[in-house]
Amino acid sequence: MSNFIDKVNITVKSGAGGNGAVAFHREKYVAAGGPDGGDGGRGGDVVVQVDDHMSTLLDFRYKRKYKADNGADGTGKRCSGKDGKTLVIKVPRGTVIRDTATGEIIKDMSDDEKFVLARGGNGGWGNQHFATPTRQVPMFAKAGLPGKSYEVTLELKLLADVGLVGFPNVGKSSLLSVASKARPKVANYHFTTLFPNLGVVYVDEGVSFVMADIPGIIEGAAEGAGLGHDFLRHVDRCRLLLHVVDISGIEGRDPIEDFETINTELREYSPELAERKMLVVANKMDILQDEEVLNRFRAHVKAQGHTLFEISTATHQGVRELLKTCASELAHLPPVIVYEANYVERPPEIDTSEPLSIEQVDDLWVVTGPWLQKIMANVNFGDYESRNWFDKMLRQSGLFDRMEEMGVKDGDMVSMEGLEFEYQR
Ligand code: GDP
Ligand code: MG
Repeated sequence: MSNFIDKVNITVKSGAGGNGAVAFHREKYVAAGGPDGGDGGRGGDVVVQVDDHMSTLLDFRYKRKYKADNGADGTGKRCSGKDGKTLVIKVPRGTVIRDTATGEIIKDMSDDEKFVLARGGNGGWGNQHFATPTRQVPMFAKAGLPGKSYEVTLELKLLADVGLVGFPNVGKSSLLSVASKARPKVANYHFTTLFPNLGVVYVDEGVSFVMADIPGIIEGAAEGAGLGHDFLRHVDRCRLLLHVVDISGIEGRDPIEDFETINTELREYSPELAERKMLVVANKMDILQDEEVLNRFRAHVKAQGHTLFEISTATHQGVRELLKTCASELAHLPPVIVYEANYVERPPEIDTSEPLSIEQVDDLWVVTGPWLQKIMANVNFGDYESRNWFDKMLRQSGLFDRMEEMGVKDGDMVSMEGLEFEYQR
């Protein structure tokens, strides 16, 4: 089992806002003080940020639930509750955050900007805000709004300019270690590379690029048969592919067959990826056994419009020229792909069949109920569409009809889980 985790589901929840307080000023010799209930603190956000010290999603294997702190309730003497602490989740660069249910992209964590994944609920207002000339003793305050929770999938898609592809044991890791300071494991058996390695290749002053060594692709990998398929996502965003084959014949492999097998795998995984600019590399030239094999391979590759680079990572023959060509190709290739978000926040399905409770407290209509909080957590009151949805849900539930029966009049104040508004037919 590999220690490389590159796809994981987690749940995140932002903090709920604290409740506003109902309190009254007390002072010796002062008979009845005014309302001085403080506001609830805001719930903590859940924020995601890139950490370049991380190279896998391993940390998420054992911890799947992330919750920011709630805001504290307000107290008397106009004291506001403390805001909930922001929870920062660190991820390796190139982590794509998706909505698990729909697969839609919420955010591609490729830059250094912090991203607010779940905003904390607002704190409720204390009763200090609700005194009016006709209502000197407001016995209510706003409740804090609940936090938001999401189930998301984190998927690591490395950010590299150049991606190495090819069968196991052809010398991909060797090439990366010769080309860069990265020290991947090199060993003479298959599947040595269990997780991707990145290395920075310095070509000339001011000219460098990032090269990724991904585990070897094996036959049937694109159908999910083996290790390979999953890992192909790591070359998804590479700007240039280096397709390495073992030309030596030392393992009895046929380079043309290997080359075609890998190309088929790439095509099956993603036709778009198969079209990506590719340089073909014949490695292990130092132990080439049959010149004829090389000649046939060269002709095969040329017929497909590719350039062949004949190299040896053992003697470094041809390596520098290959890297220089990579750099000059990259200079006019499009930048590394960053995925556009396409996530659409949908109103949740909420069962509104249970009747809400309606109470008259002083001059106020207080409406409460278990599903009301759920609905309100999903309303953005600054947004017209969102308010309309809220209104529709309430109407559908028959709430307003019942209030009319109970004698509500235009202009009466209604309080709903902390939201206050004037009733209007
Ligand atoms: P990968 O699986 O494609 O990453 O291949 P590795 O880089 O791990 O190399 C597999 C084996 O081939 C190792 O024993 C390397 O030392 C050997 N090898 C790699 N490149 C060359 C080369 O140019 N010449 C020779 N003689 N051996 C090589
Ligand atoms: Mg390797």
